[in-house]
Amino acid sequence: MTSPSQISVVRRGLMLVLSSPSGAGKSTLAQLLLKEHPEIHLSVSVTTRERRPSEVEGIHYHFIKRERFEKLRETGDLLESAEVHGNFYGTPREPVENALAAGKDVLFDIDYQGTLQLYENMRADIVGVFILPPSANELKMRLERRAEDASGVIEKRLKNARTEIAHWREYDYVLVNEDLNTTFINLQAILAAERLRRERQLGLPPIVERLDQELATLTS
Ligand code: GDP
Ligand code: ADP
Ligand code: 5GP
Repeated sequence: MTSPSQISVVRRGLMLVLSSPSGAGKSTLAQLLLKEHPEIHLSVSVTTRERRPSEVEGIHYHFIKRERFEKLRETGDLLESAEVHGNFYGTPREPVENALAAGKDVLFDIDYQGTLQLYENMRADIVGVFILPPSANELKMRLERRAEDASGVIEKRLKNARTEIAHWREYDYVLVNEDLNTTFINLQAILAAERLRRERQLGLPPIVERLDQELATLTS
């Protein structure tokens, strides 16, 4: 589904944040969204985690050493950062600021700690979406089926899922990702509606002014 466009109206870019316990499907949904909406900019995080076999440096993450991470954090080059499942993750500031300045929407796949940090300074620009798995068993099966993490890592991620899910109320929208296609349609509905919010449509005042003048002429 491609959203019907109001492209002629200049719009302020939004920050679409996806969070969930590991395995609920946020990376899958993010990839589907980017494919369908190539105009969206994906924020590629830095991480100290080991690269998974399927991951590509610079596409999924910038894989960096702990010392480099700390340097980036100290120099204010990270918009937010957090320790998740024993690794460090952070959002490089510059690409996000450049994309927003160019009027682009930016997609984030970050945890609740990072989301709360972004809320502090940029709440009005953020659309927070929390993704829940339909059941604990299904979450476990998805982590196992993904087959990218060692069994100890999967166990740790399942253990952390309760803490992460406890933050569901901090998000604007919640999707229960049972059927992937349905969830994707709903995610796109959220994006379409949020893009049309009055305060994001910066180009509306001149349009409304012109309409008003036309109506004044037409009815005088
Ligand atoms: P490469 O990642 O080694 O190919 O080289 P780059 O010049 O693209 O990146 C150098 C380092 O900067 C990498 O460790 C990246 O993770 C990190 N990095 C990438 N984007 C940004 C950014 O926007 N801001 C900052 N401060 N660091 C970044
Ligand atoms: P996350 O990024 O949240 O850790 P992933 O997107 O990697 O999760 O999804 C975990 C696994 O579950 C992947 O193998 C993915 O293909 C699968 N998956 C995602 N959504 C669904 C769904 N609705 N139904 C069944 N499997 C799904
Ligand atoms: P994974 O190791 O499965 O790729 O990610 C683990 C968790 O870290 C996920 O909840 C993911 O959303 C989160 N994460 C990824 N990048 C960032 C980031 O830059 N900042 C924060 N705060 N969390 C991140």
